[in-house]
Amino acid sequence: DKVRIKTALLSVSDKKGIVDLARALADMGVKLLSTGGTYKALVEAGLAATDVSEVTGFPEIMDGRVKTLHPNVHGGLLAIRDDADHLAAMEKHGIGAIDLAVINLYPFEEVRAAGGDYPTTVENIDIGGPAMIRASAKNHAYVTVVTDPSDYEALLDALHKDGCQTPYSLRQQFAAKAYARTAAYDAAISNWFAEALAIDMPRHRVLGGLLKEEMRYGENPHQKAGFYVTGEKRPGVATARLLQGKQLSYNNINDTDAAFELVSEFLPENGPACAIIKHANPCGVAVGKSLKDAYSRALACDSVSAFGGIIALNQILDAETAEEIVKLFTEVIIAPGVTDEAQAIIARKANLRLLVTDGLADPRASGLTAKTVSGGLLVQSRDNVVVEDLDLKVVTRRAPTPSELEDMKFAFKIAKHVKSNAVIYAKDGQTAGIGAGQMSRVDSARIAAQKAEDAAKALGLSEPLTRGSAVASEAFYPFADGLLAAIAAGATAVIQPGGSMRDAEVIAAADEHNVAMVFTGIRHFRH
Ligand code: 5GP
Repeated sequence: DKVRIKTALLSVSDKKGIVDLARALADMGVKLLSTGGTYKALVEAGLAATDVSEVTGFPEIMDGRVKTLHPNVHGGLLAIRDDADHLAAMEKHGIGAIDLAVINLYPFEEVRAAGGDYPTTVENIDIGGPAMIRASAKNHAYVTVVTDPSDYEALLDALHKDGCQTPYSLRQQFAAKAYARTAAYDAAISNWFAEALAIDMPRHRVLGGLLKEEMRYGENPHQKAGFYVTGEKRPGVATARLLQGKQLSYNNINDTDAAFELVSEFLPENGPACAIIKHANPCGVAVGKSLKDAYSRALACDSVSAFGGIIALNQILDAETAEEIVKLFTEVIIAPGVTDEAQAIIARKANLRLLVTDGLADPRASGLTAKTVSGGLLVQSRDNVVVEDLDLKVVTRRAPTPSELEDMKFAFKIAKHVKSNAVIYAKDGQTAGIGAGQMSRVDSARIAAQKAEDAAKALGLSEPLTRGSAVASEAFYPFADGLLAAIAAGATAVIQPGGSMRDAEVIAAADEHNVAMVFTGIRHFRH
């Protein structure tokens, strides 16, 4: 199962390390074939190489679209070395065996990430490279394929150890990696199209991406984990720059995503907003007169839970907000930007992770979300409904006051980002209490109210902020009991999807307490 490497084909866009590798191969007597740019790099470094055009008897044509797509190349990669028919075909057509393929692809993902225009991005779809990678990997019984410059060292180690031969197990590993690479490459291409055309049908998108990093562990220390990036350009946790702090953990990434998606519901031009997240649910969200004010008001909702939380801001982190934030233990801050002064303040907390996104996510953007079930993936389009776009229907005798309406919309925005059953009390652009993830809506309402009472005690207020609040329920009230629990907590305005069999009963209960209620017609389940 050992194969002595006599001929190698080198064709790389990322030329990092290629000259050193080629020199080491040449020193072992390996004949080097390569394509235009790679050939030039090798020859300039004083190495003897053969242009692949000599092998194909064909020049590179059509701006490099066709360089290696030729039977002399693919026959050399695919031939079964001990099959009489294959050997006869090689003999007859003058095809030489290629034992090693070192290939990396046109930088499609980089061009896409850099926001290349449509034709430039299309031109960066590599055709011949993936074909050679797939051919070599299929024929891993004989051929070694290397697609990642970080594997050059392992390749050379193996060759030096054993007379320029690679062991079968290494060829298998490289083949597995090769198909992971071409799969991720095609996924990136398909997803770029879907993104460019705003298509969110599963058939037009591929779930998958490039492994960006492996984490120390997953949700728990005994689980392994990795972070795959899809290459989407939208600002978010995958594209953010880590300015300081330790590597993000699995839970950090999950929670930071929830935090940033939520805060991105608040346009910066409408004023500062802050969301504090624990275990993927918000424990406080607020808008404010300043960013510091928004943070303080978000924190006030549940300062106990906020300990060790994730903070997301919709505006550039400034010094006065940074001074407030460092007073409490926080895991991660994510913001569109940071001032130098604020960054210096955050630097006092070496472990605090600071992520900068250079913008907010578009809550209306199309895309897919997924979760695994045993034996499969459940895939759906993003919940990209925004309350401002909805036709809100007043269903009670009393219509909401303008300030109630503002708080209703604020609360419903947040309900979209809270695990069901979600009940959110809000007043003056500040969450008063959040009830998340309960199996009963009544329990979520009670928990949110209880949290508001705890907060009032902590803040030394005479009554909880739920008094005179608006309450949002992410799904309809199946019975009046959930609504009555909210009214008991002091809510005077209610926003909910409506659509229950017992809507009439629920509306009557609201009317009886002179509560204003609107139906959104849209549900925000989040499981
Ligand atoms: P070079 O810089 O050596 O001219 O080109 C190297 C790049 O060309 C590699 O990324 C390789 O995957 C790609 N490549 C090799 N053969 C072909 C081909 O026939 N068509 C296209 N489109 N790309 C190729």
